[in-house]
Amino acid sequence: MMHYSEQEWMKYVKNELAKDVREEFEHHLYSCDQCLDTYLLAVEAEEALLPKISNEVDFTDLVMTQITKTKVEKHKAEEKKKRFYHSSIFHYSIAAAMTILLMTTGVFQSITQYAENVQSPSFQGKNPSMTEGLVNKTFAWMDTFSMNMKEDK
Ligand SMILES: [Zn+2]
Repeated sequence: MMHYSEQEWMKYVKNELAKDVREEFEHHLYSCDQCLDTYLLAVEAEEALLPKISNEVDFTDLVMTQITKTKVEKHKAEEKKKRFYHSSIFHYSIAAAMTILLMTTGVFQSITQYAENVQSPSFQGKNPSMTEGLVNKTFAWMDTFSMNMKEDK
């Protein structure tokens, strides 16, 4: 499988790619864990490069101040806001959602371990299989979800 470099993912995060290239990147991201990691690194790097708008309170104040000025300036502020949502917040949300997904899987794993430690001998084999079933169902759902995403395109 062909992979994209962190620099290429930086371009994706910064929205510097043509629409069709962007879509190729997105398709690849659905099916590639390696590039998902690289992409998350690129998002983190991009966040670090944007100290001015990483502070949401300051950014909101800035936008609000501009909105109270003339209509032309208000329009500019809204454009800035749109670009901001297009880049930073949007990608950060995806990164956060991925983190939650990974954490959830981690939680399932610790439940399995917990069940193994505390269960009485008569229940041995029953609880872990229930938990494994839950984990498998979650993975099956995630597979279905990513397949649907592919079919939509
Ligand atoms: Zn890849």
